[in-house]
Amino acid sequence: MRMQDGLNAAILEALPMPVLIVDRQERVIVANAASRQIFGEAVQGRTFATVLRQPALMSALEAALRRGDQGRVRCLIQGAGREMVAMVSCAPIGSGAMLSFEDVTALEEAEAMRRDFVANVSHELRTPLTALMGFIETLRGAARDDPAARERFLSIMDREANRMNRLVADLLSLSRVEAEERKRPAQRVDVVSLVQSALVTLRPQAEAAGVNLLLEGGDAAIVIPADPDQLTQVFTNLIENAVKYGGSGGEVTARISRIPHEAGLRGPAVKIMVIDKGDGIDPLHLPRLTERFYRVDTHRSREQGGTGLGLAIVKHIVNRHRGRMRVESQKGQGSSFIVTLPET
Ligand code: ADP
Repeated sequence: MRMQDGLNAAILEALPMPVLIVDRQERVIVANAASRQIFGEAVQGRTFATVLRQPALMSALEAALRRGDQGRVRCLIQGAGREMVAMVSCAPIGSGAMLSFEDVTALEEAEAMRRDFVANVSHELRTPLTALMGFIETLRGAARDDPAARERFLSIMDREANRMNRLVADLLSLSRVEAEERKRPAQRVDVVSLVQSALVTLRPQAEAAGVNLLLEGGDAAIVIPADPDQLTQVFTNLIENAVKYGGSGGEVTARISRIPHEAGLRGPAVKIMVIDKGDGIDPLHLPRLTERFYRVDTHRSREQGGTGLGLAIVKHIVNRHRGRMRVESQKGQGSSFIVTLPET
């Protein structure tokens, strides 16, 4: 019998889930290791109401003690230096009750993120859609017999439809990249030629914006394990952003170099910097740039045909390649987007 008790206590102590057992007087008589991490080592012996004073939980506990009811209550708990959202199960055992805490913080955060994402996507699609619907109505009515107005409206409709098209393409691309994020790319690819081809693709756009595109350090091939289409997308997005948002500086440079030993990546790496001399980015925005739909200046991004997803896609692709991305920028002096990718 005693051995059985010892085993039960050991099992309780080893459970990863925080568990408290209180007696009939609502005093904590058992607190396992996981619960002591949250409520502190001294929790044992305290009156439960001094540990967690939450009305819903107190009534669930009373219901368990007085009537033998089982209950489940959502609680906000401050402990172990953070705020945790927990579903607390309250069950009668013997003459006392057992409270077990299920941490649902990450789950609720993921749900909130999903909701935000759907709301953002809907909002982003609705703006061009509203414009399209408005112009269809105008073309049927007031502008019916006005060829000049018709042409002008059709070209706006064309632009808005293209915006929706780009948004859908970026969303698909993001979900594909996310789905593959854990699959390491296996192809051997020359990074230099990918950067060169991104520069070639963007040359007309840069010329139209009066921006000179330069390449530094791309003298010899650098072959790494990579997904060529995805890396092309990384370089295209970064160079295109530099032209769009940093083009006022008149030049954008892609600089490629090798690092014999990159500490963060524990080995040899290739570093690709995309440098512009534009207005730069306020440091306040830097940590959030890779969030979906985050823009420093929404109006400007829209005007440039941006979807707000470019850097989110870049981040996921770089992650998949086990690389790193960081941004250095000073207001008025331009920005550098720096990608390092492991060579092996
Ligand atoms: P977008 O579709 O808006 O271009 P991105 O995810 O590619 O979306 O970029 C997010 C935001 O980061 C942009 O809206 C812009 O405000 C800012 N940004 C990106 N690159 C640069 C840059 N080189 N210089 C200044 N701001 C930039």
